[in-house]
Amino acid sequence: MSGPPARPEVVVVGSLNLDLVVRVARLPGPGETVLGEDVFRNPGGKGANQAVAAARLGRRVAMVGRVGDDDAGRQLLASLEADAVDTSQVRVLPGVPSGTALITVSEDGENQIVVSPGANARLAPGDVAAAGAALAAAAVTLLQLEVPLEAVAAAARAATGTVVLTPAPVQPLPDGLLDQVDVLVPNRVELGQLGGGAAPESVEQAVELAGRLAARAVVVTLGADGALVVEGGQASHVPAVPVAAVDTTAAGDAFCGGLADALAAGATLRDAARRAVRVAAAACLRPGAQASLPTPADLRALPAPAGG
Ligand code: ADP
Repeated sequence: MSGPPARPEVVVVGSLNLDLVVRVARLPGPGETVLGEDVFRNPGGKGANQAVAAARLGRRVAMVGRVGDDDAGRQLLASLEADAVDTSQVRVLPGVPSGTALITVSEDGENQIVVSPGANARLAPGDVAAAGAALAAAAVTLLQLEVPLEAVAAAARAATGTVVLTPAPVQPLPDGLLDQVDVLVPNRVELGQLGGGAAPESVEQAVELAGRLAARAVVVTLGADGALVVEGGQASHVPAVPVAAVDTTAAGDAFCGGLADALAAGATLRDAARRAVRVAAAACLRPGAQASLPTPADLRALPAPAGG
C-alpha cells in the first residue's frame, strides 16, 4: 500500500477533456456532411494539459477536477497517472459525461471545435475546499477558465503560493479575481478582449494593454513571436525558440507548465518565461495535446536560446 501522496509542488485546478479529432479534406458547411479519416481520442483539456506539462518536466503535480464515470473519464485519469500526476482530488461523477472536445481539422490546417464541458461544469468551490491542504502546500497553482468561475475564484483565494491564471476561454472576470492572481498569462487575442477591444498589433500595444490590467504581472504569449513579460511597469520580450512547428495544439498549456516548473524552482518571472518558451516550442513539434508535451530530454534537443 502506498502512503498519502507527497506534498505537491504544483496544483492545477481545471478541466479534463477528451479531444475527439477527425481530419477532413475540408470543413463542412452548415447542414453538410463530409467523410473524414479515423478518429483520434487524445487526452486534453487546458487543466490536464498544464498538469502533464509540469509533471513531465519532473515536478510533483496534483490535479483538482471532475470527470464522468465513462470510458473518456477513465482514459483521462489514466493519462494523468501515466505522468505520475496525483489524481486523488479528481472526482468521478456517476451519470455525468466527461468533458469532450469535438475537433475537425482540414487539410489546410483550419479547425472547428465544439467543447462539451460535461463534468468540468460541475466543479464546485466545495471540491476546491477539499483540496485545501494541497493548495496551501504548493509553490505554484495553475488556473484556467474551463471550469466554473466560482471554483476558479475559490482556488485563487485558497492558494498560498504563486497563482498563475490563463484567461481562456476568455470571459469577463469577477471583481476581485485579479487581486488574487500573481501572473496572468493571456495570448494576444485574450489580452485584447480583456482590455475591451481588438488584439494588439504591436509589442508596444501589447505592453500598453497589459499594463492597464489590474494584475501584478502579465505574461503575454505571442505565438511564433515568443512572449512578453510585463511586471512592475517594466516590459521585456522573450523571443520564441525557432522551430518548424507541425501542430501548436497545447502550446499555451505547455508554456504554463514550463512557467510553473521554473517558478516552483525559485526562478524569476523573466527566467521562468525563458524556460516556458522552450517547453512551448518543443510542444509544437508533435501533434496532439498531452502527447506533444516534452520531457527534459526533448528540451535538450532544441536549439540553444537566442542571446539577450
Ligand atoms: P495559444 O496556443 O494559447 O494561443 P500562443 O499561440 O501565443 O498561445 O503560443 C504559446 C507559446 O507557444 C508562445 O508564447 C511561444 O512560446 C510558443 N509558440 C507558439 N507557436 C510557436 C511557433 N510557431 N514556434 C515557436 N514557438 C511557438
